[in-house]
Amino acid sequence: MPGVYVHIPLCKTRCAYCDFYSTVGTGLAGRYVDAVVREAALRIQELHGAPVTTLYVGGGTPSQLPVELIGRLLAGLRQVFALDAVGEVTVEVNPDDVNRDYVAALAGMGVNRVSMGVQSFNDAELRAVGRRHSAGQAIDAVAAIRAAGIANLSIDLIYGLPGQTLESWQCSVNQALELRPEHISAYALSYEPGTRLWQQRERGEVCETDEETSLSMYTFMTDALRAAGYEHYEISNFALPGKFSRHNSSYWNDTPYLGLGASAHSYDGHARRYNPADMRRYIESIECGELCCEVEALTWQERYDETVMVRLRTKQGIDLETVEMRFGNEATKHLLREARPYITDGKLKKNGSRLSLTADGVMVSDAIIRDLMW
Ligand code: SF4
Repeated sequence: MPGVYVHIPLCKTRCAYCDFYSTVGTGLAGRYVDAVVREAALRIQELHGAPVTTLYVGGGTPSQLPVELIGRLLAGLRQVFALDAVGEVTVEVNPDDVNRDYVAALAGMGVNRVSMGVQSFNDAELRAVGRRHSAGQAIDAVAAIRAAGIANLSIDLIYGLPGQTLESWQCSVNQALELRPEHISAYALSYEPGTRLWQQRERGEVCETDEETSLSMYTFMTDALRAAGYEHYEISNFALPGKFSRHNSSYWNDTPYLGLGASAHSYDGHARRYNPADMRRYIESIECGELCCEVEALTWQERYDETVMVRLRTKQGIDLETVEMRFGNEATKHLLREARPYITDGKLKKNGSRLSLTADGVMVSDAIIRDLMW
């Protein structure tokens, strides 16, 4: 069952670590929203009549759109797709854009899940990476989201921020737990080429968190969240019972999805399709009724590697019977042969036909996944 992702490439300011495509300034927002709806209409046949089951509006910063434009977007998509089967409609927000009226309006439009980029509850850490909100604003935003009746909230956190210590990270995790969001995503800060943060490191202005501290941060978080009743269902994702992200799970389950908007990706089970990372070019081509995108057919090996990578990150792990069915006996033999040493030293476990990481294995998951690839 396909999910639909809509990319809103708008940000008020750019964060130091971010390499996602987005642009500052909302001058083209109305035309952009209309273009996304038109793209949906132009591509509806790619769903082959299957109902859309999840809708995720991400970015960028969707909450940079006035609420009327989010309404126009959702109403337009509703006219194109039968959205009756959609169980999960998520909109990403930034804490400084959120107030009770804004979120209540989203709820009134059928949005039943909000994902908020909090990153840290320490103001100095937020400033160090150019986040434009404070910890207090994030806490107020959670109260506004709850007051508006949104019962499914996800927050994002980042560990390894410049100036962050194990103690300050523990405070952020504990503060997050006090707010009791249904879902928490937590990622290690990465230094991406071309970002401000990358240049700051090159100039020696910031120092990367060492591996040992990073590991301690991750271990503290996984222990604290598990103790608080969160299921660790993917390496970077935690959910209260039944509150896992259905949309993101479809990425990890190899389910096709349709990505709409500038720089959005799509996947149909065989090929990836990339929309141009250029808002103006995107709008102009869609307004002419043209879909401009790059399509990359995935080879057998790319599909196998991708399956190993995304499935092993999940708690359920990879199903050997599915590997056999999709990639054949040679692939299953390769997987088992490479997995054996890790099973012996307790980093992977085999339960029936399922192969998954143990708690020890999660700590060295990158190396294990690399070895299990083709
Ligand atoms: S992290 Fe989010 S808010 Fe910051 S620049 Fe990137 S997309 Fe925009």
